[in-house]
Amino acid sequence: MVVDQPPPPGSVLRATAVYKKSEHVAEVVRRCPHHERTPGNNDGPVPPSHLIRVEGNPRADYQQDLNTGRQSVVVPYEQPQLGCGHTTTLYNYMCNSSCMGGMNRRAILMIVTLETQEGLVLGRRSFEVRVCTCPGRDRKMDETNFRKIQEAKSSVKATAVTAKRSLKEAPQAAAQPEGSKKEEIFKLEVRGRQRYEMLKKINDSFELNDLVPSSDIEKYRQKHSKGGNKRERDGCTMEPKRGKKRLVKEKESDSD
Ligand SMILES: [Zn+2]
Repeated sequence: MVVDQPPPPGSVLRATAVYKKSEHVAEVVRRCPHHERTPGNNDGPVPPSHLIRVEGNPRADYQQDLNTGRQSVVVPYEQPQLGCGHTTTLYNYMCNSSCMGGMNRRAILMIVTLETQEGLVLGRRSFEVRVCTCPGRDRKMDETNFRKIQEAKSSVKATAVTAKRSLKEAPQAAAQPEGSKKEEIFKLEVRGRQRYEMLKKINDSFELNDLVPSSDIEKYRQKHSKGGNKRERDGCTMEPKRGKKRLVKEKESDSD
């Protein structure tokens, strides 16, 4: 939360969790029955049903709204240290999003409000929170899904690219991750169609070269050079290579 000027003395930062989807929003976000009753992390003064805990701040105050039953944790607003632009508050989530009987895979929003002592809200921030045992894996899955959505959105563009690629029969190139290397794009103004066509041809061949995997280019070169040899053999006029000489000799012995 960013402030232009320090809030009034006694201001606090409150953190609350709510369910994101409207059909769940009325329900209070609490820890699951299992974790609430598990000893070990419930030895301190913190009420065990609270999902959000503040770490390393003895002034943290755990509250429950008498009317709504919503739970929140409040810390006093602290002026950032000299030379530092912010104050950090460490929040710990005491359940996983997947916890049965608790969040039960439902998305939650973390709402942070800056409030005066009297409870007047000065600022509000919210963000989605997912608590998981394997954040790396989950993030990767999320990113893959996000990319799929993005690809679907730009489907017209994607179809054009695949069409081009299948035409060139370069499946390996298609398998390469899109945008793995970010390149700068330049635009060039060209005077005259003829010049433009020439430059376009050059650029097209660069583009094609990028699309075709290097292994395929190598295959193509080999195939091409074999073809060249055949023609040489037929003509028998080009500079002879080793294999060629023998061929010529054989021909001579045939004629003898
Ligand atoms: Zn739990």
